[in-house]
Amino acid sequence: RSANTKFYNIYSEDYQKNQLFKERLNYDFLKAIENHEFCVYFQPKISIQGDNYKLSSAEALVRWIHPELGFISPGMFIPLFEENGNIKILDQYVWRETARKMREWYLKYNIMLPVSINVSRIDMFDPKIVDIITSIAKENEIDPKDLYLEITESGYNNETSQIIGIIDELRSKGFKIEIDDFGSGYSSLNTLATLSFDVLKLDMKFVKDMFKNDKTLKMVGIVSDIAKYLNVKLIAEGVEEKNQLEKLKELKYDIIQGYYFSKPVSSTEFEKFFGKEFK
Ligand code: C2E
Ligand code: MG
Ligand code: MG
Ligand code: MG
Repeated sequence: RSANTKFYNIYSEDYQKNQLFKERLNYDFLKAIENHEFCVYFQPKISIQGDNYKLSSAEALVRWIHPELGFISPGMFIPLFEENGNIKILDQYVWRETARKMREWYLKYNIMLPVSINVSRIDMFDPKIVDIITSIAKENEIDPKDLYLEITESGYNNETSQIIGIIDELRSKGFKIEIDDFGSGYSSLNTLATLSFDVLKLDMKFVKDMFKNDKTLKMVGIVSDIAKYLNVKLIAEGVEEKNQLEKLKELKYDIIQGYYFSKPVSSTEFEKFFGKEFK
């Protein structure tokens, strides 16, 4: 052992930030896909403007349950896989698992719950993207209107015309487009002006700070006006407190996602939400 080699405890934060850890994740990726180490969690989205709070849909969120490294959160590996292109393989895996689960729930509960899947900006530049998503829906007898594709606004600045084309094609097949993390990118208003979409999801940072400063609260309200003007559904994510929920309801937000109702949970745990009342 050379003197300058540093040894890490694989569970330590130090190690997880380390280059070796990243290389390990990249190295283990294909084996992990084969061994089904990736697992899809679901977080409920609750519609709040009716008489009762109701389960309206869910977001599919990937987790990696690594046999040696344990539970790894997507914030750790998604950026790595976006860098080396593995994200395309991972996302297709997640979308397929999600569609299968939707079908399974339909057969078991007679409910076709709309679900949103995350689509990386890298996926959007794959010329086969429309065919891939279409065939995943078809294989599982999912009506495209029940699949929401969450895309983030950042990263499309130089390639907008290509992205506009793909989004239009997806929407013409019936898939729904949801703008994720709205407000956090560097061209938010440009996104609204150039892309066509169905749902707007406010970045959770605004929810977190809405009672910390008046301007943020004002912005949260203005986004609601924008959504009404554009005639799109409006979601707030990262809602943890009752006072946030109540304010967002007053501001006419349609759907709430956040720990206040539930963290993302395994598909089995998620089943307890069917028919449950939310308060
Ligand atoms: P996102 O799409 O914006 O997903 C929302 C994130 O916020 C999730 O983190 C969720 O667990 C978290 N969250 C929800 N409610 C609350 C709350 O009340 N408080 C707090 N503090 N957090 C809340 P997660 O699951 O760790 O995912 C992080 C990001 O990783 C996602 O952000 C998304 O950008 C990406 N991601 C996750 N799964 C996939 C996937 O299958 N494919 C792709 N391409 N990206 C994914
Ligand atoms: Mg998302
Ligand atoms: Mg988000
Ligand atoms: Mg995000």
